[in-house]
Amino acid sequence: MPNDPDIAELAALIAQARRAVVFTGAGISTESGIPDFRSPGGIWTRMAPIDLGDFLASEEARRETWRRRFAMEETFRGAAPNRGHRAVAELVRRGKAAAVITQNIDGLHQASGIPAERVIELHGNTTYAHCLDCARRYELDALRRQFERDETAPICDACGGFVKTATISFGQAMPPAAMRRAETETIAADLFIVAGSSLVVYPAAGFPELAKRYGAALVIVNREPTGLDAIADLVLNRAIGETLGAAVGID
Ligand SMILES: [Zn+2]
Repeated sequence: MPNDPDIAELAALIAQARRAVVFTGAGISTESGIPDFRSPGGIWTRMAPIDLGDFLASEEARRETWRRRFAMEETFRGAAPNRGHRAVAELVRRGKAAAVITQNIDGLHQASGIPAERVIELHGNTTYAHCLDCARRYELDALRRQFERDETAPICDACGGFVKTATISFGQAMPPAAMRRAETETIAADLFIVAGSSLVVYPAAGFPELAKRYGAALVIVNREPTGLDAIADLVLNRAIGETLGAAVGID
């Protein structure tokens, strides 16, 4: 057993749990070098986000969206899962965690070895693109090569629809299937671990409250205090990777 009392308490909660759910936000991925877009000083405080309405209405907005996305490509491509991701993957591998609900769009949970069907992405995924009309999938490499040739926002080969990264934009509804699955998993959980989310973005931030209401123990691991600390059973204002890694017992 770890001799740090906070870690020991988290480890004990994990040991007792029969069906855990892990809910992750930007804080787990900043430890892999992915910036937190919403944080003070983050990209969206310096550069207004382009919402879906603008994207649909204007070729220039589409071009600018793609310019910004490709400017981030080295960051996303270079990022690897860290100890926090590995700890979460280990909980899934052991059958301890039934699902991971994430606000992140970086695909690092899947890259850490968690089967895609166990990762519920509330804000979509930026590591590939799809047609907004027929949903055909596109890989970013090919789109980037084309964009660098003609600076024209990509159009679907199959139907002529606009192609966009598979993320949920501002002005776009949360994906209903993912929201339903997240709700079902949350209600079924007896332990709900928040890792690296400040829990300010609703409706996502409602899941820990829902878990509590249905009797789960609630653990919040986040560097900063959150708005739900008062209802949590355990709050650890610490780095995600070292905390989860130590509690789960992986490096
Ligand atoms: Zn299409």
